[in-house]
Amino acid sequence: MSSRKLNFFAGPSVLPLEVLDELQAQIKDYNGNGSSMIETSHRGPMFAEMYKQCQNSLREILGISDEYDIYFLGGGATLQFSMIPMNFLKPGTVADYIKSGTWANKAGKDAELFGDVNYYYDGTDSKFSSLPDSKTVKPSKNSSYLYLCSNETIGGIEWQDFPDTGDVPLIADMSSDFISRPVDVNKFDMIYGGIQKNLGPAGATLIIMKKSMLERQNSPLASYLDYKNHASNDGLFNTPPVFSIWGVKLVLDWIKKNGGAQGMADRANLKSGMVYDVLDSSDFWKSPVDRNYRSKMNVVFRLPNVDLEKKFLVEASTAGMLGLKGHRSVGGLRASIYNACPVEDVKTLTEFMKEFERKNG
Ligand SMILES: *Cc1c(COP(=O)(O)O)cnc(C)c1O
Repeated sequence: MSSRKLNFFAGPSVLPLEVLDELQAQIKDYNGNGSSMIETSHRGPMFAEMYKQCQNSLREILGISDEYDIYFLGGGATLQFSMIPMNFLKPGTVADYIKSGTWANKAGKDAELFGDVNYYYDGTDSKFSSLPDSKTVKPSKNSSYLYLCSNETIGGIEWQDFPDTGDVPLIADMSSDFISRPVDVNKFDMIYGGIQKNLGPAGATLIIMKKSMLERQNSPLASYLDYKNHASNDGLFNTPPVFSIWGVKLVLDWIKKNGGAQGMADRANLKSGMVYDVLDSSDFWKSPVDRNYRSKMNVVFRLPNVDLEKKFLVEASTAGMLGLKGHRSVGGLRASIYNACPVEDVKTLTEFMKEFERKNG
């Protein structure tokens, strides 16, 4: 075994070891073709085949119908914060945003540059520790779309089910819980996310968009910023993030081998349950989020004081556990336990936590 440390980083984050091994083994010569995936044209047959396999795996794992286009863009999830309103926020209408935390808030801020934004829900007063009941969420009458972030990576809250928005398109940022559970894609008109949390090496944003959305677009738009150009070219309007897509393809193979979306959900329930059990076991630990919306990907927690939190981080690091610091904007501690994080690593973490409490509680 190598001396790799335990990885609890929020993103970029842990990838399956066998995916890294496969990338390493194939980097110079892909499947005996005599050339590398990252050195050849994205218009050639080698990329085309791998890309098709990647798209097909996504369709298979999430049950995505032909009514949806699937492709990858650059610019991170962050570029979508502006592309979405640019394309879909119609003059004379509003866009409904669920203000649930750092990421949804950033998306809303960018949307404000392009038109009227209605914050259907605002979690500011509760320090973004909760979410609205999905059954009560109704978009405005003149809404262009309703936007939500399925998992707030920094705040540690996650939608457990999703609102029904009727004829109003539902758009979701799933960057940090992509394929961590089965999702009824048909409920959404657009799902997107940076792949670097749960699906592969940083550099691509996965777009899953209902074809009918293209009829709702504003125009004209600069070419790269116009979804129509990407959709009509099957995501190959310009050079796609080839290496990242290859990584995603391999991660999807790994997901399929490990029970698909339901397998990921079972693992996520088990792993997050192990950490939340420790948090619930005594007053030493504080979980600052509403129990109903606890994230299964990013478990945020606090200790009685900041000095103990610092000590926790130092000792965890010495014990080989990295990435447990809360986001710089909120402080505290956070264990990101994405799909590829092994159950044994979470076990090691929880044993460490219990020992830390024995010594310092
Ligand atoms: C990390 C993250 C982003 C930002 O992703 P970039 O690819 O860095 O732009 C957006 N939304 C969520 C939910 C995230 O976790």
